Amino acid sequence: MHVDPDPDPDPDTLIALGDRHYLPVYRQRRLVLDRGRGARVWDTEGREYIDFSAGIAVCGLGHGDPDLIAALVEQAGRLWHTSNVFHSEPPLRLAQELVEASRFARRVFLCSSGAEANEAAIKLVRKWAAAQGREPARRTIVTFRGSFHGRTLATVTATAQPKYQAGYEPLPGGFRYVDFNAIDQLEAAMADGDVAAVMLEPVQGEGGVMPAAPGFMQAVRALCDRHGALLVLDEIQSGMGRTGALFAHWHDGVVPDVVTLAKALGGGFPIGAMLAGPKVADAMQFGDHGSTFGGNPLAAAVARVALRKLSSEAVLANVVRQEAALRAGIEAINAEYGLFSQVRGRGLMLGAVLKPGFAGRAGEILDLAAGCGLLLLQAGPDVLRFVPALTIDDDEVAGGLACLRKALAGFVR
Ligand SMILES: *Cc1c(COP(=O)(O)O)cnc(C)c1O
Repeated sequence: MHVDPDPDPDPDTLIALGDRHYLPVYRQRRLVLDRGRGARVWDTEGREYIDFSAGIAVCGLGHGDPDLIAALVEQAGRLWHTSNVFHSEPPLRLAQELVEASRFARRVFLCSSGAEANEAAIKLVRKWAAAQGREPARRTIVTFRGSFHGRTLATVTATAQPKYQAGYEPLPGGFRYVDFNAIDQLEAAMADGDVAAVMLEPVQGEGGVMPAAPGFMQAVRALCDRHGALLVLDEIQSGMGRTGALFAHWHDGVVPDVVTLAKALGGGFPIGAMLAGPKVADAMQFGDHGSTFGGNPLAAAVARVALRKLSSEAVLANVVRQEAALRAGIEAINAEYGLFSQVRGRGLMLGAVLKPGFAGRAGEILDLAAGCGLLLLQAGPDVLRFVPALTIDDDEVAGGLACLRKALAGFVR
């Protein structure tokens, strides 16, 4: 059954539909993507692009992974949805596999997005603190400036960036903000004993691809232990192999109490998860939380395969290999054009920071890159963000870098 009145519309006609009907909260590039394979995508005009964006760090296995397709198609022919009133096999298996892979969690809450996973984590912290006998004023959660935790009212309040909060006041209470990587500020913020949890991204994503400084996460863990607070890690962007380890915090040698996942967990199929460690695994009981779509069999069937593949030595070794190639390539281009003050990040989550003279112009570069056959992201107005598929190969990295060089040549001209 075809629902399209016009079987072969031109991209401008299609884009006009969005201009007219979407709530205008996004600024898409003026192209319509049609299909993808690996780290390449094609638009409706047949133009090919190297994809350094991977659907914002979602398509960890690239586009069209045959094993993900097989899992989705197999499950699609079997059962789509049960709600959490009834069991189905894929989420039962996925929960066990996530607990085992995590090395710390006892229980899992499945949901459909990152914001929903963080919302669950925030509610879990509050329930846990309440059960400890802490009155509401003593259930504060500390987050870090430059963080991004989602767009629901609670998660946008956790997101310590004014631009995401402006106009949505009154915001929920019980959050406190400190500078990222500033352990002295965190110590001061926790001194009154009112802090129930500290929540952070091991590598800040939207805030500019900023990794936790060496030793910072361990210092945060130590402060949490001293004050009886929980450590909540938002690995929605940095988890699932993105940094070269299945979980980003493995690099830092800390054991968290809660970890949230989404983005790459479903390889492009919407799913999120909150993993709860032994201290908090029983904090929420029957009726305390829920989600209609959480643990949907289609999502869980795909995520099981994504988890298995993203845990593999081959994929994680490729992350290390391609990080080196990508860094070297960006640095070489920078030696020519002198646009970046710094290339930072971890694994295949890299940021190229524009020098002050070019600050605010990342969006222009993204447009030029798309024109040169490269899909690229920004992380704020001053940082180019590189988050390709973890399976990207040598040719695709080289091809993408060639496009970037061309785009930047146009930019400086
Ligand atoms: C993307 C992201 C979120 C929000 O995920 P959604 O699926 O968009 O709700 C939360 N935290 C981090 C670190 C993210 O990168």
